Amino acid sequence: MLRKKLKLDEKPAASGELCASTGVFSLSQYANIPKAKIGASEDKPQVNQTKPELDGPIAVPTIPTDTGSLPYWQQVYLVERKLSAALRKVALPSDVAACYDPIEYASEIHCAYLRRFLDGPKPVLFVGMNPGPWGMCQTGVPFGYVPAVRDWMGLRGTVSKPTPELAARPVQGVSDLPRGAMERFMEDALQQARIANDLKEVPVGCVFVRSDGSTETIIARGCNLVNETKNATRHVEFICIDQALEYGRQHNVTPPEAIFSTVTVIVTVEPCIMCAAALIELGVKEIIYGCRNDRFGGCTVLDVARLLGSSIPIRGGVRDVEAMELLKEFYKGENPSAPIPKPRAKKHENL
Ligand SMILES: [Zn+2]
Repeated sequence: MLRKKLKLDEKPAASGELCASTGVFSLSQYANIPKAKIGASEDKPQVNQTKPELDGPIAVPTIPTDTGSLPYWQQVYLVERKLSAALRKVALPSDVAACYDPIEYASEIHCAYLRRFLDGPKPVLFVGMNPGPWGMCQTGVPFGYVPAVRDWMGLRGTVSKPTPELAARPVQGVSDLPRGAMERFMEDALQQARIANDLKEVPVGCVFVRSDGSTETIIARGCNLVNETKNATRHVEFICIDQALEYGRQHNVTPPEAIFSTVTVIVTVEPCIMCAAALIELGVKEIIYGCRNDRFGGCTVLDVARLLGSSIPIRGGVRDVEAMELLKEFYKGENPSAPIPKPRAKKHENL
């Protein structure tokens, strides 16, 4: 577990002041104070041992009743989960702004790492790590330099984000985008979502960012145009796909579809199943979204990437609160193209 330091805009208290207000800090002193639960899965042990042991997306194991027969990496992961749960009971001093636990929010890549390298008994060395902005904080892999984890080890997986997440220490997962760029591009996508709202479209905005290794360029941007075109497929991702193809033609990319392997998709709402499948089939480099789409999401409702055997990095939760607020605002009003709800027949009590 990594603990992010203090509120960055505050001066740390002198050691004497800290001791005066909190006493000598020790885990035992602050332990056993109930805080958040780690997850319902621990209450309902369940093991799925049929998951493949080869590379590719993997399921994060839940706590079983008998761990002895599990592969080593799963046994270690379950021990980590127990330690995380114990640490959650530690009440943080008031001058600690946040606590990052990549075992949880980066569990997919972390488990992929364990599964790859923990194939038998190993001597274990516990090391206290300085919680820097990169490494395990971003990837879930100890000392995990992003290009080494992604390109050399070839590990893939969704990286969520800690709660709370410090603005000065954002978690970007295995993204190629430089620090801070993700939020900047998401602001551009949010602007598009606000335009959609003005147009009485479902407020979803998107930008396609092309990266050539040194610079990032927005090559497509747009918002939903379903109502305006009266075409249910004109989701913003398809609007941007068309723009990107046109960009490829104008810049002599051959074939134009080759452009997608350099594209990071930044969209305010999790792509729906249709759009997620299209983006994955086109081979975009990565997908970053804001809030979840609990009804039609191509990750949360149906894991399209897994279904298609894709290892494209996908992550959500970037400025998700703002994206969700726009949706809530929109649905408080009236979608002009929404179907008129049919009145439900009254149930007969004797039936
Ligand atoms: Zn869609």
